[in-house]
Amino acid sequence: MEVVLHGVRGSRAAPGPDFLRVGGNTSSLAVTPAGSDTPTLLLDAGTGLSSVGSHLNGTPYRGEILLTHLHWDHVQGLPFFGPGDRDDAEVTLRLPAQGGATPDVPGSAAALLARGMSPPHFPIGPDGLRGRWSFEALEEGRFEAGGCTVTALEVPHKGGRTFGFRVEADGAVLAYLPDHLPVADDRPGVALAKGADVLCHGAMFADVDRALAHAYGHATLGEVGRLADEAGVGKLVLIHHAPARTDDQVEALARELAAQCSTTVVVGREGDEVMGGHGRLGLMSS
Ligand SMILES: [Zn+2]
Ligand SMILES: [Zn+2]
Repeated sequence: MEVVLHGVRGSRAAPGPDFLRVGGNTSSLAVTPAGSDTPTLLLDAGTGLSSVGSHLNGTPYRGEILLTHLHWDHVQGLPFFGPGDRDDAEVTLRLPAQGGATPDVPGSAAALLARGMSPPHFPIGPDGLRGRWSFEALEEGRFEAGGCTVTALEVPHKGGRTFGFRVEADGAVLAYLPDHLPVADDRPGVALAKGADVLCHGAMFADVDRALAHAYGHATLGEVGRLADEAGVGKLVLIHHAPARTDDQVEALARELAAQCSTTVVVGREGDEVMGGHGRLGLMSS
């Protein structure tokens, strides 16, 4: 499968010259399993979702969107996803069951999403998106989505129920944990990342900001490195960078972490193909 990072920033978008090498859009990642020409599985719908269209060659989006949780930086791209907002689009969006949204109540997932996306907060609600959209509340478990096998587990974070995902296809494994606080007995984090080829993990906080990181339900970089080592992942890709952290600072922190852990550590940049072997796709210049 091919995996492309479309947004690697946490909390808010980060425009400006100090952020060009890493990228300023918030969390979104596209998966294209072998046998498909275009992405069929999108993880999170931050502002980075807008550039997924560059991989769709003018075709509508027909596939799945899985949201780890409903914080702004993971949903704000949703109404601006042109290939999903046209009459011939077919999209299934799944979000963690919570707050009255349960798998057995039709419309409850859309109603939960509409609490943040509907007038007066936003001009349209989820039902204002064109095409065939279905919204589902998701419980923990293993299921098929977009030609991949996905495992969803609840992970510690703050402010709403949050999932991490493990995506398996074509013999490859991706773990995606953008917002995750590893705890002492980190059952879900290790289970999702165990033996993964690539672990994309949030990197918002340096070790000196441990108290703040934990207060907001995030890991420190040191904790991320230890999780990657314990889970035995092939490569740790740092994503969900702090919005004020410049390119130089992101790269310096990644070098520091790489010196501390045995796992290969790389900076996740907007446009990187982190699985699939083509390298940098140059989304930021398009
Ligand atoms: Zn986030
Ligand atoms: Zn969050």
